[in-house]
Amino acid sequence: MSTNKSANRGEFGLIGWIQQQQNGDATHLALGIGDDCAIQQQLAQQDLLTSTDLLIEGVHFNRNWTNMFDLGRKAAAVNISDIAAMGGTPQSIFLGIGKPKTTNSEDIKAFISGFLAECKQFEITLAGGDTCSSNTELMLSITIQGTIDSGTAICRTGAQVGDAIYVSGTIGDSALALQLFQQGQLPDPYLAQRFNTPTPRIELGKKLAVNKLATAMLDVSDGILADLGHILSASKVGAKLELPALPLSTPFQHALANNKDLIDLALAGGEDYELVFTSPLHNLADQLQPDHKVVMIGTVTAGSDTIVRQADGSIYHCQQGGFDHFA
Ligand code: ADP
Ligand code: MG
Repeated sequence: MSTNKSANRGEFGLIGWIQQQQNGDATHLALGIGDDCAIQQQLAQQDLLTSTDLLIEGVHFNRNWTNMFDLGRKAAAVNISDIAAMGGTPQSIFLGIGKPKTTNSEDIKAFISGFLAECKQFEITLAGGDTCSSNTELMLSITIQGTIDSGTAICRTGAQVGDAIYVSGTIGDSALALQLFQQGQLPDPYLAQRFNTPTPRIELGKKLAVNKLATAMLDVSDGILADLGHILSASKVGAKLELPALPLSTPFQHALANNKDLIDLALAGGEDYELVFTSPLHNLADQLQPDHKVVMIGTVTAGSDTIVRQADGSIYHCQQGGFDHFA
């Protein structure tokens, strides 16, 4: 491990460096980095939540648009968001790195610094991982674990006809930033920040779970229509959405004023990492104020269709589908 002479070199040098950066004791861990397995103490009456994400250069990120520190933050944030989407508390994270020879160690260290900075905000411990070379692109594999009181996780299957549909924060910002980057333009700093360092909604998720306020929930990674669609098909229901109710940031609204087609980015653009959830309570937005900004965007209906209504009552047809890696 990191205690030998090679502490500054190679795979074990890097692992030793990672171990040094990961300071602070984690009460839930009996053993962290350094052995064959991490040991996590389990509390009675708690469920363990586990989620994994792969991040591949050129597919999930482009280093021209995202610096390595922010990439580290985002890599952690999108995983933390999966724990938020169940209503849980994140605890341990595991990081697999496949490093191409062309990626220097300073870049990897900047990535890890960003990763650990994001984890620190949520009191998450880097409990292990794997480090190897990659013959192609930079590859990152991240696994996160969290806990929740047994039986209280908010799954995708519980939406009921008549439930209100809510979304947190604003939507479309990240997709608009991506579109501008792809067009060779520099997005407004707010939009770029929404794309590069999304905010996992851990506190909102926990509040909804602890108080049993939501019947179904997920985080928006592939676009609100596609992601809400996952809740609807899992719950065997449909939805009616109100287009004018979609929460849009001021920079997004400015862009929309010049190009009304951008509304499709709010419906089908991914990577907002906001929470979408259903609830029998139709006044929840007020109840959650001022700590959490959520808006009601529609209702759950019988059937299986999603209908998007415009201000005049006519149906809006989104021209874009959500993101699908194999499409
Ligand atoms: P093994 O041979 O069992 O895979 P390693 O030598 O790869 O063990 O790893 C030694 C220790 O360092 C393990 O505790 C492992 O979890 C940790 N580790 C390896 N790579 C990383 C990484 N990228 N981030 C965090 N911990 C890591
Ligand atoms: Mg290993």
